[in-house]
Amino acid sequence: MNDLNVVAETIKKCQRPLIGGHVMPDGDSLGSVLALGLGLRLLGKQVTMASSDPVPELYSFLPGIQEMLVGEVNPGDYDLLIVVDCSVPERLGAALLPFYEKGLTTVVLDHHVNDQPFGHVNYVRSTAAATGEIIMDLLDVLGVTFNTDLAVNLYTAIVTDTGSFRYENTTSETHRRVARLLEYNIPVARLSNLIYSEQPLSQIQLLKEVLATLEVSESGQLATICLSRQTQLSIGAHDEHIEGMINYARNIKNVEVAIFFRELEGQRVKVSFRSKYFIDVNLLAKKFGGGGHVRASGCTVEGTLMEVKAMVVKEAEKLLGGVLNCGRYYHHP
Ligand code: 5GP
Ligand code: MN
Ligand code: MN
Repeated sequence: MNDLNVVAETIKKCQRPLIGGHVMPDGDSLGSVLALGLGLRLLGKQVTMASSDPVPELYSFLPGIQEMLVGEVNPGDYDLLIVVDCSVPERLGAALLPFYEKGLTTVVLDHHVNDQPFGHVNYVRSTAAATGEIIMDLLDVLGVTFNTDLAVNLYTAIVTDTGSFRYENTTSETHRRVARLLEYNIPVARLSNLIYSEQPLSQIQLLKEVLATLEVSESGQLATICLSRQTQLSIGAHDEHIEGMINYARNIKNVEVAIFFRELEGQRVKVSFRSKYFIDVNLLAKKFGGGGHVRASGCTVEGTLMEVKAMVVKEAEKLLGGVLNCGRYYHHP
């Protein structure tokens, strides 16, 4: 059962939906929650939108964001939980997970690779570049009339998850959907500056520290960067200021796999993976209890920064050693 009509029927029957995305929310998670929330309001639903984790300041321009509950959701009498861009219940975070655990009927709308989605009603399309694409289709099935606020949220979801249409997940369907969104007069250049070019100075200072840890393997195919908790705290940088840094490692010529190790509280390390052409980093993250996509994935591993790094690098090198370095691909093999 992977049918948007079934999802639409379930949503039509509800009156008071609670809509949420994943922890450490990104543009796709927030844009999808907001577009769906604002869209369902147009259908007369009493919508509550929520995030377990704080909303990165950079996304404060998103229409409707000021109405999003952050960190705490009162029990309320919701009749449906709608989860977007989130493939496992744990990534709902502390504020939203209890609603699922208490058995509130749950709809999952997602684009992560996942053959066992956790909702009671699920729609998973891993070929969608962003969950925002799925939300757009769902709003159409529901008969919602689009407007500029919806379009800004959907555009942000899609532009961030495709790396501004540069990643492999970008399809003709992505561009068709975005072309339609642009008809609602969204300020593309302004949005691009808000998303990418309003970085606080502390973010660049943090980048300096992170780049100082750059290591490239002998083969040149693996690049790693690290961030200790002490460094992050001393600069006073927020989690949101770390987003995108892994691309500096990925952008190096001949690098196939980039890994970013970030020390968390309590002897845990958040690991982010990116690949360029042929390594499936979803499989790599899965080995450590995480997941994601073929070219972008992540996991959280227990141990010190150095322990986790040694362990993960070993697995990555095994994987890279198993394939020939075919140089620069044009076509995806
Ligand atoms: P990032 O490295 O930007 O945090 O995450 C990259 C991708 O991997 C995202 O699509 C994200 O959803 C997924 N991801 C990151 N961390 C985890 C994790 O701990 N578990 C799972 N299942 N997916 C993750
Ligand atoms: Mn996401
Ligand atoms: Mn996404």
